[in-house]
Amino acid sequence: MAVSVNEERLFQKFIKLAEIPSPSLKERELADYLISLLEGFGFSVEEDETAAKIGGTTGNLLARLPGDERYQSLFFCCHMDTVVPADGVKVIFEDGVFRSQGDTVLGGDDKAGIAALLELLEMIKEQDQPHGMLEILLTVGEERGLLGSKNFDYKKLEADFGYILDSSGSPGAIIIAAPAQNILNITVKGKSAHAGFEPELGVNAIRLASEVISRLPLGRIDEETTSNIGIIEGGKATNIIPDSVFIQGETRSLQREKLDDITSRIVKEFEQIKEIPGADCEIKVRLEYPEYWLDPEQHVIEFAAKAMERAGLKPRLEPTGGGSDANIFNAAGVQAANLSIGMQKAHTTEECLDSRDLVSVVQILWEMILLSTEGMQP
Ligand SMILES: [Zn+2]
Repeated sequence: MAVSVNEERLFQKFIKLAEIPSPSLKERELADYLISLLEGFGFSVEEDETAAKIGGTTGNLLARLPGDERYQSLFFCCHMDTVVPADGVKVIFEDGVFRSQGDTVLGGDDKAGIAALLELLEMIKEQDQPHGMLEILLTVGEERGLLGSKNFDYKKLEADFGYILDSSGSPGAIIIAAPAQNILNITVKGKSAHAGFEPELGVNAIRLASEVISRLPLGRIDEETTSNIGIIEGGKATNIIPDSVFIQGETRSLQREKLDDITSRIVKEFEQIKEIPGADCEIKVRLEYPEYWLDPEQHVIEFAAKAMERAGLKPRLEPTGGGSDANIFNAAGVQAANLSIGMQKAHTTEECLDSRDLVSVVQILWEMILLSTEGMQP
């Protein structure tokens, strides 16, 4: 039997969080609200220097609640920022489902995780539940390329292992593998000329770029690999042959060799532009984050699976196509798995969250606290 949760309190908390705007790099208002709540639960909260490094208003928050040393220490991580449009979020709660009014995202990514954590803390306090040391890391700029987690100093974390609450889909998924991602920044150069008087003198960069793009391997390459061109910018006026166009794309794969392979296939296609008289091409590839693979027998996985079973869910060990703070944690040598928290259609204005899923997340977290006191040792 899963523990009963104060649903009204949980739902109100989620709505409150969702309605505080916190687009990436502007998490200040939400952070201040969370600092006061966490301090109210007895946490000490430290904000790091990340704000200045990433040009944001807010640093990562690391909150720590001392616990009984006999029990396992745990950390949980959520990101405070959301994608846009995020101004004036008004939550509609109908038929047990949270949505926005349709003109903004809901922000359940990742406020569903934060709301569940806050309800967990309410329950611990209310029931005077014993626990080990708990750490809550609230990151910033996650949606801008994991900026917060990349700038966090992992030596500050003291807990043995923990969870990132930031995967979509119904609760029960434990993300055991996530892809590495490359970002490609490409500038195709041509030569400008008046489009009416002397088009013969120009080399059209937009045309060159589109010819290459049309033959790129894009979309799902195989079950572990994807690629996309997401941004194209260039040109000044219809009467000018454009001399430059900027293209940004990405490649992802669960396997590093496959990532390298799809990336170099794309690079090679663009490099052919260099052969064309009057044209040039600059290509920069940057590894945005590395992949991670967790062993299903690792403690961090077994512990979560056990908590899920006790909360009445069937654990699902799944790979994902998305990167998260978990990629950075694992690269830093911290044992961390990303868990699904019910968010659906994240990064769209149709984003929604089933309230029953939110309750399930709290139940999983509660079982983790109980397990941590029962001697399920790593
Ligand atoms: Zn997220």
